[in-house]
Amino acid sequence: MKVPFVDLKAQYLSIKSEIDKAIQEVFDQSGFSGGHFAEAFEEKFAKAHQTKHCVACSSGTAALHLVLMALDIGPGDEVIVPTNTFFATAEAISLCHAKPIFVDCDPHYYNIDPNKTEKAITKKTKAIIAVHLYGQPAQIDELRTLASGFNIRLIEDCAQAHLALYKGQPVGNFGIAGCFSFYPSKNLGAYGEGGAVVTNDGEIWERTSALRNHGSKQKYYHKYIGHNYRMDGFQGAVLNVKLKYLEDWTHKRRRIANSYRKYLSEIEEVIVPEEAPMARHVYHLFVVRVPQRELLVNHLASMQVSTGIHYPVPCHLQNPYVQESRKGINLNVSEQYSGQILSLPIFPELTDEEVQYVAECIHAFYKA
Ligand SMILES: *Cc1c(COP(=O)(O)O)cnc(C)c1O
Repeated sequence: MKVPFVDLKAQYLSIKSEIDKAIQEVFDQSGFSGGHFAEAFEEKFAKAHQTKHCVACSSGTAALHLVLMALDIGPGDEVIVPTNTFFATAEAISLCHAKPIFVDCDPHYYNIDPNKTEKAITKKTKAIIAVHLYGQPAQIDELRTLASGFNIRLIEDCAQAHLALYKGQPVGNFGIAGCFSFYPSKNLGAYGEGGAVVTNDGEIWERTSALRNHGSKQKYYHKYIGHNYRMDGFQGAVLNVKLKYLEDWTHKRRRIANSYRKYLSEIEEVIVPEEAPMARHVYHLFVVRVPQRELLVNHLASMQVSTGIHYPVPCHLQNPYVQESRKGINLNVSEQYSGQILSLPIFPELTDEEVQYVAECIHAFYKA
């Protein structure tokens, strides 16, 4: 049996007629950049996350950059990030010429460790970016308490956590703003690049919506130096269709995660992900920890099962940051886990037979 890591084609085929019609409308109305299709999406996406505002933009990285710019974060400032995240979270800070300060992950949930976060706060700290990694909300209460106690901003990187909940409330509501990505393989994926900022703060909304469009609110009048970070019309049209299915797809991801848990529970070597209290995990990725990872990956590949590693190198050890990484800050958990983590196939269209097959292949490997 061949099990891909993700299958974007299967999802497209399940909604093909609606998508094709939506794409045609963009041609018919010449709504190619920003405009009606992106605006319609903004309204729906804000509603889905129960926020007052949404600013659609060109990528998740752009969304992060826009929020940092809107907060006037710049040279001399420090922003705290987990080292266990996709590189873009830290990169956005560097794009503002501020300094990312890397913090280790919690050993159970893989998100930023709130206890270690407190130790990283200095007089220069302007913000903490909490990443809801793999689809699981970070430890929001602890992080909010820290942020308000030290008078610094909390920003949520929700790129992997569409419709994830903490105490029943969607992510994106807990900090000054939430940043989403619609990269094709994300839980809500465009057919190209896309991103969004959600916020309940009127000023952040005003600034990010202008900054994504050359700092302009009125055509050819520019209030700020910004960027061209607009969402294109095709992506807006596609996302308008796909958003309707997101809750259903999220249920399917959670069901698949439960199946994995059931089938993998008999294999002593495999550590399955833990769900944090009060959190609804949306399983952008299903990440296990395993011994002899490289051998297992090869075995699975030989059985036609594709896997991934998120991420093989923590941010502080990536080339642009490795020299500067402050000595004495302990990032052991992330360093150790980067050699053990393994992402198994998960996407809404994955069948129970396929999940069972993946588990059987893993079982066979450790029995041998
Ligand atoms: C995907 C991702 C981003 C960046 O989003 P792009 O749309 O690819 O720019 C940022 N942070 C995290 C955690 C991501 O997974």
